[in-house]
Amino acid sequence: MTQEDTVANPETEALAEGGAVVREGTPGDAAAGRAPRYVARPPDTAAASALLAAAHRRGLTTVMRGHGTASDWGAPPERCDVVLETTALNGVEHAAGDLVVQVGAGTPLADLQAELAAAGQRLTLDALVPGGTVGGAVATGLSGPRRLLHGPLRDLIIGMTAIRADGVAASSGGRVVKNVAGYDLGKLHTGAFGTLGLITSVTFRLHPLPEALRTVGATAPNPETAQQWTRDVLASGTVPAAVELDWPETGPLTLRVLLEGAEGGIDARARAVADLMAGSGITEGRPAHWGVLPGEDEDTLLKVAVPISEVAEAARLLHEAAQRQHTTAAISGSAGAGVLFAALPASAHAESVDAVARSVRAAVDGSLTVARPAPALADADLDRWGEVPGLELMRSVKQRFDPHRLLAPGRFAGGI
Ligand SMILES: Cc1cc2nc3c(=O)[nH]c(=O)nc-3n(C[C@H](O)[C@H](O)[C@H](O)COP(=O)(O)OP(=O)(O)OC[C@H]3O[C@@H](n4cnc5c(N)ncnc54)[C@H](O)[C@@H]3O)c2cc1C
Repeated sequence: MTQEDTVANPETEALAEGGAVVREGTPGDAAAGRAPRYVARPPDTAAASALLAAAHRRGLTTVMRGHGTASDWGAPPERCDVVLETTALNGVEHAAGDLVVQVGAGTPLADLQAELAAAGQRLTLDALVPGGTVGGAVATGLSGPRRLLHGPLRDLIIGMTAIRADGVAASSGGRVVKNVAGYDLGKLHTGAFGTLGLITSVTFRLHPLPEALRTVGATAPNPETAQQWTRDVLASGTVPAAVELDWPETGPLTLRVLLEGAEGGIDARARAVADLMAGSGITEGRPAHWGVLPGEDEDTLLKVAVPISEVAEAARLLHEAAQRQHTTAAISGSAGAGVLFAALPASAHAESVDAVARSVRAAVDGSLTVARPAPALADADLDRWGEVPGLELMRSVKQRFDPHRLLAPGRFAGGI
């Protein structure tokens, strides 16, 4: 048994039996304000299985943690007995000839991209948050600006191995020995915040690094114009990789179109886009802070998903709703993919956040979630999810994977 800083007791002994390093939790280990009793770091998949099986037998709840950069996303778990650290579940198997990589969930995303770039390839995700792991990125269901051309993250996943609450490992999709009939694990675990199991490894399809990048940017006089430009660019046949909108608390709305591809032809494509956007300029490469979420780390962050035709209108509604609550909204996101983020200042009260969310939900044909509340609102009685379609189906999947509600209980929509 291996232990750090922990006096052995039957619980720590049981958790460490399969080889995990177990120590006592500290306030610094808290997941959304819930300090765990133990922190366990399994060295490999077999040890992770044994750890989850031991927690399951003892009725201990487990919350997964990569590098903790998104541990305040989703609702706070109702209980957190064990934090399971994934950082030792790392390693990269790159099949460059097949444009495929199999990667351990605890591998930092930045390390993966560096290794792929050395072979002229990439996993098409944007704006790396320093230190985030592959498992954390998949579990938070991120999809950056370039989902417009390459699809959202879940479409880049071709295989996955995950461990259920009872410690049973299962795989699905590509490069696996054994398949589980009936479930596409990659799709289920993407964006589930670790409520269905521990992702231990993911197989992704890759893309070659593009030879050239151009960004066409312009300030729109009003949201309607930005909407018109988006429509024209998407219909233009110039095949943009991303169309991004940026509308800070004060100041004008900017639309930026990213083009990727071969050197030959990219300038003609950029000029064709520029012709559609009055007053635009063309730059090489992509802007600094591309795809980065708006606002400050401690702001309340809202995520709005709407049809592409309603993006600029949704942005306008967010600004107006914030003003009515005597607060502000900094907005950015993918005009081309219909996903916006709005940061409300950390000082905004729960009532204001709820009022903004309610009024935008009522006016748009889409969804608004409180993706990350400000720290002061971590335990506030916020309606984080609004109306969630398909909740009964999600509950039945949860029941199948984690019937005793031992994995981050309550973190997901509908108390899942
Ligand atoms: C909309 C959005 C867009 C983003 N865009 C990008 C982007 O383009 N590029 C980028 O790098 N980052 C992006 N981020 C940030 C990124 O999702 C997280 O910051 C980071 O990847 C999380 O990694 P972590 O190791 O710090 O996870 P943690 O903060 O440790 O965990 C995050 C969540 O995932 C769960 N979890 C962690 N590991 C596992 C696992 N192995 N199995 C099951 N559950 C697990 C945790 O319990 C927690 O609920 C984005 C975030 C969001 C929400």
